[in-house]
Amino acid sequence: MNAPLSRRPTQSAPVSLFDHPDFDGHEQVMHGFDAATGLRTVIAIHDTRLGPALGGCRMWAYANDAEAETDALRLSRGMTYKNALAGLDLGGGKAVIIGDARTQKTPELLRAFGRQVDRLGGRYITAEDVGMTCADMDIIANETAHVRGTSANGFGDPSPYTALGVFTGIKAAVAHRFGSDDLTARTVCVQGLGHVGMTVARHLHEAGARLLVADIHTPSVEKAVSEFSATVVAADRAHAAVADVFAPCALGAGLNDASIPELGAPIVAGAANNQLAEARHGTMLRARGVLYAPDYAINAGGVISIALARPGGDDSAARAKVLAIGSTLMDIFQRADALDLSTQDVADQIARERLDGR
Ligand code: NAD
Repeated sequence: MNAPLSRRPTQSAPVSLFDHPDFDGHEQVMHGFDAATGLRTVIAIHDTRLGPALGGCRMWAYANDAEAETDALRLSRGMTYKNALAGLDLGGGKAVIIGDARTQKTPELLRAFGRQVDRLGGRYITAEDVGMTCADMDIIANETAHVRGTSANGFGDPSPYTALGVFTGIKAAVAHRFGSDDLTARTVCVQGLGHVGMTVARHLHEAGARLLVADIHTPSVEKAVSEFSATVVAADRAHAAVADVFAPCALGAGLNDASIPELGAPIVAGAANNQLAEARHGTMLRARGVLYAPDYAINAGGVISIALARPGGDDSAARAKVLAIGSTLMDIFQRADALDLSTQDVADQIARERLDGR
């Protein structure tokens, strides 16, 4: 019998969008070009059932268009799940601009991007991501109203909100694991002392936790030692440090075949995006008895602040929603136990239920 005809194109042919492994039913994918400025952008709108698609714009020197499209598709799908789980009435989307943000970003290029966003008529709302700043959002706002995180309508840097959500999530995980969210007898290892990690460490210190810290940037480590009496651990061994909680706040893909057997804490709860190298690592964590706070659930504080920011600066509604991350995680942990599923699978399930209106 002949082998069935594959729908996969041969290697030499360009991959069709609809056959792309990360297509995942995207509602709309727009490729935008502007001859005058050289703008090349991909705007991916994954799902707008809950509302307009909110997701940042990333400017990155992608090696080629295909890499940019893949990134846009993956990030946009992620925003659908993150926004749904956070209880926001917003869908998921993402934009990427192909180019080096340090050398190729000009006001004209940003304005051209703003016009592309505007053509989508509000189905996509842009915001900051890697390579973009609040000042860039201000320039984009000259061309479209569909932008958040500007100096006029934002709360500024979203990382304090992300950090507050992560701290709240750590307390929820500790309560689930140990029966009390009291941190005074707990040790937390924070890996990555950047915008988010340093503030998480401060919250933990103020709550009485003992801190282990790791960063490749020595001044950040020195600051945590002097301000929080933290103990330093090697950056590449932070996952193995003996603690009650491992809080990855640096890079993604840190939970993998090599690191999971070495984990020194029974809880993983931190800000880093895409912590699981592959989806199966969520199941591997559960099998090893490690309680994992799904990354997109615990680190939603930043997008919540962007989504709920209003002129005038009253952030009480945003803070309340960020604090609700604790109860969302509690639901996830309890359902995962009841169904014997990984916490990541349960988070996806809850997000899908909301998307399906169940
Ligand atoms: P950041 O760049 O300010 O900080 C990252 C820190 O990690 C830096 O101090 C860096 O030196 C350190 N680092 C890099 N490699 C390391 C390694 N191998 N070991 C130890 N430390 C290392 O970034 P951020 O804004 O604090 O974000 C941290 C993580 O949280 C990222 O994964 C980001 O995607 C995610 N996140 C951030 C936000 C936000 O509001 N900023 C929101 C959601 C998710």
